[in-house]
Amino acid sequence: MAPAGKKTSKNKSSEDNNNNNDNHRDGDGVPDALLENQRTRVTVGNSGNENTRGVYYSGAYTSLGYDNSFSLEKFKKNFKIKVLSDQPEHLVFEMIGVDAPIANALRRILISEIPTMAIERVYMINNTSILQDEVLAHRLGLIPIKVDPSKFNYKQPNKEYTAEDTIIFSLKVKCYRDQKTGEIVNETVYSKDLKWVPTEDQQEIFDEDDKPRPAVDDIPIVKLRPGQALEVQCYCEKNIGREHIKWSPVGTASYKIMPLITVSPKVTGEKAEKLKNSCPMKVFDIEDSGQAFAARPLNCTMCRECIRDPEMEPLVKLERIRDHFIFSIESVGTLEPKSLFKQAIQILIDKCVTVENSLRSNV
Ligand code: SF4
Repeated sequence: MAPAGKKTSKNKSSEDNNNNNDNHRDGDGVPDALLENQRTRVTVGNSGNENTRGVYYSGAYTSLGYDNSFSLEKFKKNFKIKVLSDQPEHLVFEMIGVDAPIANALRRILISEIPTMAIERVYMINNTSILQDEVLAHRLGLIPIKVDPSKFNYKQPNKEYTAEDTIIFSLKVKCYRDQKTGEIVNETVYSKDLKWVPTEDQQEIFDEDDKPRPAVDDIPIVKLRPGQALEVQCYCEKNIGREHIKWSPVGTASYKIMPLITVSPKVTGEKAEKLKNSCPMKVFDIEDSGQAFAARPLNCTMCRECIRDPEMEPLVKLERIRDHFIFSIESVGTLEPKSLFKQAIQILIDKCVTVENSLRSNV
C-alpha cells in the first residue's frame, strides 16, 4: 500500500491494497490483510463508515490465529510520538500505537483535571462603570493567570485565606479627559491593569520573571467614560476545570484520527484534475506523470467531497488509522502545552494506580 502523502509512481489500486499487508507498523503475525484492515482501519464511504468500533477482547481473533491480548512489549515497540508543530502556546503531535479510550482520557484530563490558579472572589470597592458587579466578576474570573500552581495548596472551604493558597490582584482605574489634549484616558480597562499584591512570604518565592500576572495583557475587561471608576480586589485560588472552566489550562485539547487516502492509478488526466479541484482542503496534487495522489493527507477533514461523484467513489479509498492520532493542545497561556501533556500522563498514571490498589485491597 502506498501511504497517503508519499509521492510514488507505483500507486496500487485499492483492490490491490486489500491483498497486500500494510507496512505502517509491524503486523506481528497477522494472518492476512483483511484482518489487519478490520483491526486497524475505519473505512469511510458515501453510505457510511465501517469498522468504527475497536475490538479489545483478547480472544476476538483466536479462530484466525491472532492473539488480540494486550502486551506491554508490543505496546512499547509500537508506541511513538512525533511532534509536528511546537509553539509556546500550541503543540501538535502524532501519537501512534494507543487506543482511542487512552487518547480520549488524556484529552479529558487536559481539559478538566490539571490544576491552575484563577480569580474566585472579587471584592467590589467601587464600580461606577456600566457593567453590573456580577458580570464584571464573571469576566475577571475568566482571565487566565500565569503562575506556577504547584507553589500553592488548594484552599480549604470556610478557612481564612493564606499566602499558601491565595494570590491577590488589585484593579484600580479611573477614566478622565486630559485637560490639555482633550483625550480620554483609561477608556478601556485591560487585563494588564490587574496588579499583583504580594504578601511578604510570596515575594520571596517568586522571581521577577515568574511573578503572578495575567497570561495576556490586552484582554478588555470593561469600557469606561470620563468620571467612571473601578476599584476591586481579586482573590485567586487553585482548582481544576471540572469545578469551573475558568480553571481549565487549555482553550482546546482535541485529536483527530489519522486519515489514510489511497488513489487508484487510474486517476489521471481529466479525472485527476477533477479530483484535485473537488477537495476543499487541497489534499490532492498531480504528479508529473499525470496521476493524482494525496499530497497533504493531514489536511483531510473526511468531508467526502472527493467520493460524492459515483464515478470517483471506487477510485479513491478513504480510511482512518484507528490507533494513530493527531493531537492538538492549545494552552490559554498559563502553562506550556508540553508541560500540560506530561501532567496529564502523570494524572492518568495516578488514576490507574488508585484503581489497581483498590482492586488489590478488595480481592
Ligand atoms: S474527504 Fe474531503 S478533505 Fe478529505 S480528501 Fe476528500 S475532499 Fe479532501
